[in-house]
Amino acid sequence: MISFYPGPSKVYEEVPAFVKEAYDQGILSINHRSREFASILKQAHHILREKLHIPQDYSIFFVSSATECWEIIAQSLIQKNSFHIFNGAFGEKWHYYTHKLGKEANSYEFEKDHELMPEHIFVPENAEVICLTQNETSNGTEISNEIIKKFRQLHPEKLLAIDATSSMAGIYLDISQADIWYASVQKCFGLPAGMAVLICSPAAIKKAFQIGEKDHYNSLTSLQENYLKLQTTHTPNVLNIYLLLKVMETTEDILKIEAKIEERFQRWENYFTLNQEFSMFIHNKKVRSKTVVTIQSQPELIQKLKTQALKEGILLGNGYGSLKDTTFRIANFPAINDQEIIRLKTFLKGKLS
Ligand SMILES: *Cc1c(COP(=O)(O)O)cnc(C)c1O
Repeated sequence: MISFYPGPSKVYEEVPAFVKEAYDQGILSINHRSREFASILKQAHHILREKLHIPQDYSIFFVSSATECWEIIAQSLIQKNSFHIFNGAFGEKWHYYTHKLGKEANSYEFEKDHELMPEHIFVPENAEVICLTQNETSNGTEISNEIIKKFRQLHPEKLLAIDATSSMAGIYLDISQADIWYASVQKCFGLPAGMAVLICSPAAIKKAFQIGEKDHYNSLTSLQENYLKLQTTHTPNVLNIYLLLKVMETTEDILKIEAKIEERFQRWENYFTLNQEFSMFIHNKKVRSKTVVTIQSQPELIQKLKTQALKEGILLGNGYGSLKDTTFRIANFPAINDQEIIRLKTFLKGKLS
């Protein structure tokens, strides 16, 4: 089965060999307080920093999910107020989780085809953290590095937190322009589910210590104290950290990966722009996600296409939430290879008008 699901998604083909290697080398049973683990952790930090261009002074943590990151940010970085800007289901969930944890989470919702203009958005004075979903997986929209930079310039005194779950490791993100970035690894990283990468600026860490929240096993202050000692707050997902290290050793620099992702995206874009029955769900080219291609059509046609695809061993991504019947999604993630895309295109050729 070839999976074009945008998460959990296809893992890199090297993963089974690396799992075996981890088993053969006894890594699956090592103690997380051992020197051996500390060395793997250190190398994993290093390779992430190098391949994704993460500034030297940013901290890197391995946690369990993007959802956990929503909680960590709410617990450790928001005393009272946050401000959430979103146009889809994941941004909305983040807002909801923060609110549920007792914060005054305010929000600004925008249309899926609207390109954000930071200078026109009123951000409340008391907002401590501005929360943006860089790649909204539910509808296939993105926020550019330039727009994120604008937010930073307009609100230098606030922390800027970015959910990049379905784009990190697929496109270049200017990490220096925000304080908190995170992504779970079952999307663009092409790894098995069960881990997320959380990246924090010195300003975010400083704020965490000023607030001094230490009530949770995953309080940011504890994460940072352990990070500095190459330790973890709990027994971590050693296998996935190892897999991330090994896979990233084999993948190219993020700028090269991005060039390939953009080229493939343009081909998908051209392909569906020419079609009558299946078209790009996002009309404004400037805000289209490069990693999650969302296609709209009539529910019956989508259902038929998905069923026929499955029969040929191709799994297309369902539409998300309220878009379940009227859209489907194609993951444009780096772990998917050229032959698989050719197979999908060959399949579509016979089906689309
Ligand atoms: C998938 C996804 C999440 C949730 O990830 P989990 O690993 O299930 O916590 C959050 N935000 C975005 C944008 C996503 O695509």
